Amino acid sequence: MALDSGVQPALETRGLAKSYGAVEVLRDINIEMGQGEFLVLVGPSGCGKSTLLNCIAGLEGITAGSLMIGGREVTQEPPKDRDIAMVFQSYALYPTMSVAENIGFGMKIRRVPKAQMDAKIMEVATLLQIDHLLDRNPSQLSGGQRQRVAMGRALVRDPKLFLFDEPLSNLDAKLRVEMRAEIKRLHKTTGASIVYVTHDQIEAMTLASRIVVLKGGDVQQIGTPQEIYDRPANTFVADFMGSPPMNIIPATVEAQKLVMDDVTLPAPTIGLPDKVQVGIRPEHLTLVSVTPDLHVKPTMIENTGAECYLNFQLGGVTVTARLPGRMDEDHTEMVGLGIAPGALNFFDAGTGTRIDL
Ligand code: ADP
Ligand code: MG
Repeated sequence: MALDSGVQPALETRGLAKSYGAVEVLRDINIEMGQGEFLVLVGPSGCGKSTLLNCIAGLEGITAGSLMIGGREVTQEPPKDRDIAMVFQSYALYPTMSVAENIGFGMKIRRVPKAQMDAKIMEVATLLQIDHLLDRNPSQLSGGQRQRVAMGRALVRDPKLFLFDEPLSNLDAKLRVEMRAEIKRLHKTTGASIVYVTHDQIEAMTLASRIVVLKGGDVQQIGTPQEIYDRPANTFVADFMGSPPMNIIPATVEAQKLVMDDVTLPAPTIGLPDKVQVGIRPEHLTLVSVTPDLHVKPTMIENTGAECYLNFQLGGVTVTARLPGRMDEDHTEMVGLGIAPGALNFFDAGTGTRIDL
């Protein structure tokens, strides 16, 4: 009986682990990804993102656990039988072949009939808006155009799963933003299931339907961009996702009040231990003149153009407020700040794990 792959998860990992000898690189990875999802694996350099992608592709064997693609167990299968297509950071195009030949190369090897091959090349090139470049050689293309050709080679395969490993990191900042929008459009148009690796939290936030945050080979949190940003599972996620990052301030709970240095905040404290870490996003601190929650002395003011970052000391750490407009960078007089309602996050003082009240 044929399985209806439409209702099967695009990807499922169960207790996946990977070691190189005694070095554990991935531990107990459990991911379930729906059809058509754009799943982003994000984390700092060396956390195991590429290793996980290579395990999914079958370029690396796994040490424990299992892997299913489209509802089919592929743990023991070689890459060519997994029905995946991969786009790498360094996309080597064949320099002596035209764009069309580069895109069609895989089909030529598989002896796809010429008419069918040409139609597919044209379809994909049109989708990628490089149909006017089909006769050119890679040396006659810009970096962004070359990256599109590399994506074209993956797209012609119509695989069950696309795997992208930092495909934009070789491009300059402006081109990255353009190609990011392009990849998002491509996903919307094709409805493809994509696993996308990046260390860039903005890329993760803007592209993902769901994000997997990794640190040192462990999953920290899996959730929609909104969930990850609004309710980070721990201080690592709170710090990693967001720029400037969430402020994390040590505090104590005394007489049912939240105390940081000599500041006492009116905040819900029921259910909190005596010592906590308080998380506040920089944009949840606002300038107020009437009954501010905090009176602070600016230690540094940075104007970025559209907004400014006002830094001050609280609870022994530097805290940043992200304010609209501009401020005099020499401003050192006290400033009143309000905390947006419901903006406080609480984390365990020792482990950094989120505390939900
Ligand atoms: P990321 O892509 O998140 O930057 P990687 O998956 O490339 O990280 O690497 C994760 C960890 O695994 C790193 O500490 C790296 O040194 C280690 N690693 C990767 N490949 C090997 C290997 N072949 N042998 C030993 N260690 C490896
Ligand atoms: Mg990598």
